[in-house]
Amino acid sequence: MATLQAVSGMNDLLPADGQGARWHRLETAFRDTSVRYGFQEVRTPLCEYAELFQRGVGEATDIVEKEMYTFDDRGQRRLALRPEGTASAVRAAIEHSVLARDPVVRWSYVGAMFRAERPAKGRYRQFHQVGAEVYGDDSPAVDAEVIDLASSFLQSIGITKFIVRVNSLGGAETRARYREALLAYFAPHREALSPESQLRLERNPLRILDSKDPRDQAFKAGAPSLVDALTPEDRAHFDRVQGFLTALGTPFVVDASLVRGLDYYSRTVFEIVDTSGSLGAQDALGGGGRYDQLFTELGSAKPVPAFGFALGIERLLLAAPVEEEKKPFRVAVVAVAKPDENTTHAGVLALARELRMHGFETVVDTRFGSMKSQMRRANDLAAAVVLLIGSNELAAEQVSMKLMATGEQRSVPRAALLDELTQTQRAPAATGAP
Ligand code: AMP
Repeated sequence: MATLQAVSGMNDLLPADGQGARWHRLETAFRDTSVRYGFQEVRTPLCEYAELFQRGVGEATDIVEKEMYTFDDRGQRRLALRPEGTASAVRAAIEHSVLARDPVVRWSYVGAMFRAERPAKGRYRQFHQVGAEVYGDDSPAVDAEVIDLASSFLQSIGITKFIVRVNSLGGAETRARYREALLAYFAPHREALSPESQLRLERNPLRILDSKDPRDQAFKAGAPSLVDALTPEDRAHFDRVQGFLTALGTPFVVDASLVRGLDYYSRTVFEIVDTSGSLGAQDALGGGGRYDQLFTELGSAKPVPAFGFALGIERLLLAAPVEEEKKPFRVAVVAVAKPDENTTHAGVLALARELRMHGFETVVDTRFGSMKSQMRRANDLAAAVVLLIGSNELAAEQVSMKLMATGEQRSVPRAALLDELTQTQRAPAATGAP
């Protein structure tokens, strides 16, 4: 029988290469930073009605058109694995009327997203994002604070080589006027554009500015500037965002060509790009922006201004420095007993349990081979301390404690054991630390 493999573009995380610990630290850092900015975590299902993303992300986007994993469930309803987190979070906010209870809501999320893209370094079919969203506040202070959250989170995980590009797409009125200006500009060049951009010309000409196709570059460069199309209100909003970012000390550059691939943005958009070179072609760490129309598009009776971002965890981990693992203080309990000696084995398990309840990372070689093989296993697992118990120790309510770094061994009364271990853990020599 052929050996089964994981779906292409969907990755296993194996503990042995230290990835699990890195993921854990990153997610913890994100939760810590976002809590300090007043965010609370929301968890939504991995799967939604496909219509949510068609309406939310936009029919004419790459994500919905080409990359969504959709399928019919047993009741013939069209479902989709979520390709991003914003539409689901907004759906949940509307469904549970969260803004009726609280005028401003700050939500963060961490989780898997799915897009059927061509797998490459930094581009997968199941990938993971951390994200944050603010609902109910249209102030430019929100835009600045949330961009600052993204930027300070990156710094907290040791990513320092990045730039924050910001732009304003203007509100609905600006977008409509700008669309006309783009149509007028690109239409005479239609035949020379890439086939994809020819399609975009009909459906969403703004997206031509997003094109990476070499055939579109020369035309892109001469396109009318969005900044010139901004209304005075849009301009004032954008100026204030920039002023607040400067006041916060968040470095940024204004990039008039930044449009982002999703339909729902209005006014401020931003993108964070890695500049260390460690990501190759997939150098966008994440981005986001304001999406003041999305609530209405997803059925909210009242318009609700919103702002959010998402960062890709896999790319963050490619960009972040690999820290040296902190050596855990690990205790091994070893049975000095014949292979069939149940009482001693039970004593070993009971002691390990007690230590675990008191917070010590404790290992037992439950195969209960010879003492020598248990000691070898303790050594392989880098135990700092080995506790040996046999029938004598059990009877005398003692354990034999061996420090692996020095080889020193002595008897310790059971009653004093927890204190002894705590002291040993504090003494650097016991853990083999310099
Ligand atoms: P987006 O939702 O497209 O704005 O993406 C935000 C971020 O999510 C990107 O900058 C990436 O860091 C990450 N991301 C998006 N798509 C993928 C993918 N297919 N594989 C890995 N990361 C991705």
